[in-house]
Amino acid sequence: MKYIGAHVSASGGVENAVLRSVEIGANAFALFTKNQRQWKAPPLKQETIEKFKRFCQVHQFSADQILPHDSYLINLGNPEVDNLEKSREAFIDEMQRCDQLGLKLLNFHPGSHLNKISEKECLARIAESLNIAIDTVPNVIAVLENTAGQGSNLGWRFEHLAEIIEQVEDKSRVGVCLDTCHLFSAGYDISSLASCEQVFSEFSDVVGFDYLRGMHINGSKTPLASRVDRHDTLREGTIGTDVFQFIMQDSRFDRIPLILETIKPEIWADEINFLRSLEQK
Ligand SMILES: [Zn+2]
Ligand SMILES: [Zn+2]
Repeated sequence: MKYIGAHVSASGGVENAVLRSVEIGANAFALFTKNQRQWKAPPLKQETIEKFKRFCQVHQFSADQILPHDSYLINLGNPEVDNLEKSREAFIDEMQRCDQLGLKLLNFHPGSHLNKISEKECLARIAESLNIAIDTVPNVIAVLENTAGQGSNLGWRFEHLAEIIEQVEDKSRVGVCLDTCHLFSAGYDISSLASCEQVFSEFSDVVGFDYLRGMHINGSKTPLASRVDRHDTLREGTIGTDVFQFIMQDSRFDRIPLILETIKPEIWADEINFLRSLEQK
């Protein structure tokens, strides 16, 4: 059973994300629970929370099918104390919002060293941030996303993800989301079925599929190992479509949200159908 959807808009209220997902024939979705470009947001109203939960129930979305994403401003590995503190507070707020909405996952980009501390120090700082957040907020699983490795962003190597997880005390509260565009940009060749087999077996050895809590299903506009993050539609771009067939036919990707962050929302319904067609191919 595959859960497929897109990162839909939550404008007008988080409950609208549910309806937008129904419109495109999705059985999964991602959303921001607050404006992703601002540090602070008003708390969720009780009425909004109830509506969101009711809409999810009516349209049969369980917490396993929903992958909220945090704000782009947050850097849990920030080398500067004041900014690190600000990021930690904002992340805890995001986790609390998820918990209030009955959600159990929170997807985030690990963090950046900004060329001021070593990779190792930055990864340790990220893990410490997670330990604090996990101690403060119950239930929600912090889901590390692999990155394209742009600038000083960490998390583009499986080893980075493993090193963070290693230092998180409660392993039941940490997970991983792999983005196909970011994998390719980071240098993982997923352009053929045979190379996918290799890359995902490396993931299995270094991190482990037990931690896999979601996928971002994207094409890429940039070549292998570009370290530049530019999404494309599924059927255009540089990766090709073998990786999508690989994912759709492999049971290790069952029952986790498979989320489109592709660049043409007007063809999301069509891209979902395309992915469904690959299940039987
Ligand atoms: Zn992504
Ligand atoms: Zn991206």
